[in-house]
Amino acid sequence: MNDAPTAAKERVLTGDTPTGSLHLGHYVGSIENRLAMQEAYECYFFVANLHALTTRAKDKEGIRADTIHIVKDWVACGIDPKKATLFIHSEVPAIAELTWYFAMLLGYGRLMKNPTIKDEIRVKGLGEEYSFGFLMYPVGQIADVLAFRPSFVPVGEDQVPHIEMTREVARRFNQYYCDVAGSVDDKDHEEAGGVFPVPEAKIGRVARLTGIDGTQKMSKSLNNAIYLNDPPKVVKKKCNKIFTGRGSMDDPPVLKGNTVLEYLDAFVEDREKLAELRAAYEKSEIGDGHLKKEAGEAINAKLEPLQERRTKISDDDVIDILKDGTRRANSTAEETLARAKEAASFGFFKREISFK
Ligand code: AMP
Repeated sequence: MNDAPTAAKERVLTGDTPTGSLHLGHYVGSIENRLAMQEAYECYFFVANLHALTTRAKDKEGIRADTIHIVKDWVACGIDPKKATLFIHSEVPAIAELTWYFAMLLGYGRLMKNPTIKDEIRVKGLGEEYSFGFLMYPVGQIADVLAFRPSFVPVGEDQVPHIEMTREVARRFNQYYCDVAGSVDDKDHEEAGGVFPVPEAKIGRVARLTGIDGTQKMSKSLNNAIYLNDPPKVVKKKCNKIFTGRGSMDDPPVLKGNTVLEYLDAFVEDREKLAELRAAYEKSEIGDGHLKKEAGEAINAKLEPLQERRTKISDDDVIDILKDGTRRANSTAEETLARAKEAASFGFFKREISFK
């Protein structure tokens, strides 16, 4: 069991939704930042299993299996449960309760203008068929973040509109209930008596990794992802399919918006070799096939040690990690909830719940 993290460190919060295994987009968009930040910050990373219900309500076994997969991926990537608090969303009730308060601070029109929501409805083909809960999830996400009063939220670019709404709600709560003046700078909200900091998005080294289709964001739901647990042969096969933007092999190489170049840039560690490959490609001395092979090798070199570590983590290890982390997460989130309720004049007495 871990010691509670020291209170002096600034906090970081982020999570992943169990709608599939993690892919390279998650890695460069958010996980790398988590690895760097777990050393110096009080980090909370969670599996957003409640959010998975937005598109997967009938698939209870799938959500559960992916919850376990994701924690294995995190630990395999180097996220250390002794340094960071890893927890499961559905066992932190303060988040659901805060969602109610925050839902009242956000206009419906404002929510529907969020470009990520519009994008998801379009890309996932939800049409008019999305649940009421689907629209609740961005509000829930605000509560996920603010329950931990973090300074930073490491995310990919697609999450920026959500973080912007989170910042708006934090300001509004502090202004309505904690007498923080509208003129107070975002960075000074807590000092001015606000319950919530106004958190900042921390965007990854690659803000938006493109999928192998060469057009859309790499995503679990678009069948264009290379997963962290894809075997080397599968990675090679997927890399061979990368769309490079070239209509026919007689056309000149595409140098802008070419996904194979994007992957090489993201995963080839030897920067001299990368420059040589680029130069040879520009002069058509090598073609798409050569670059795809190099991309596959660079990605496999990155994934191999991670996959090796993953085999050593059992399902029982994951449950132990989540149980321990969730206990600590609840302690922080309950403290936030009590402070928020007190500020909003809902703090009548200390809650006691008992059941047999
Ligand atoms: P999700 O799987 O949608 O819960 O995303 C988990 C985290 O990974 C979020 O911070 C996303 O912004 C980030 N992410 C997901 N896909 C990508 C991508 N293709 N490029 C960069 N970041 C991504």
